[in-house]
Amino acid sequence: MSYDSDNIFAKILRDEIPSIRVYEDDATLVFMDIMPRAPGHVLVIPKTPARNILDASPDQLLAVMGTVQKLSHAVMKAFDAEGVTTQQFNEAAGGQEVFHLHVHVLPRHTEVGLNPPGVMGDMGELQANAAKIRAALD
Ligand code: 5GP
Repeated sequence: MSYDSDNIFAKILRDEIPSIRVYEDDATLVFMDIMPRAPGHVLVIPKTPARNILDASPDQLLAVMGTVQKLSHAVMKAFDAEGVTTQQFNEAAGGQEVFHLHVHVLPRHTEVGLNPPGVMGDMGELQANAAKIRAALD
């Protein structure tokens, strides 16, 4: 399977469609998941093309996981969380829906389940949660 540069996250990287960005460095970008499974659910992506973990380079994986760790600390602080769930899916059979490598980072609290999938977040709430994460990164 090859990389399709018209996927939604490639368009977000090119600013062709809007996103709520919370962090970026030379190699990675982090933005709010539009259908959050928990308050503070973010997605970490490489800025360079990779379909998923199966075609990513070691350097891309290193950069992405470094940012995943940074955002894990930030969401713990921002949401006074007790834990963090990271998720990463590969190909349709593996649960992947958007074919640009991404890792989900979700702050978690004891005995609080995830929201159901496929429910659009409230834009005001997503913006407010993004601001909390940005503040925690400072
Ligand atoms: P996955 O490929 O990991 O199964 O799921 C893709 C994720 O991307 C889902 O959690 C979904 O909510 C999120 N997503 C899909 N389209 C958009 C979009 O246009 N903007 C943002 N910010 N997130 C999206």
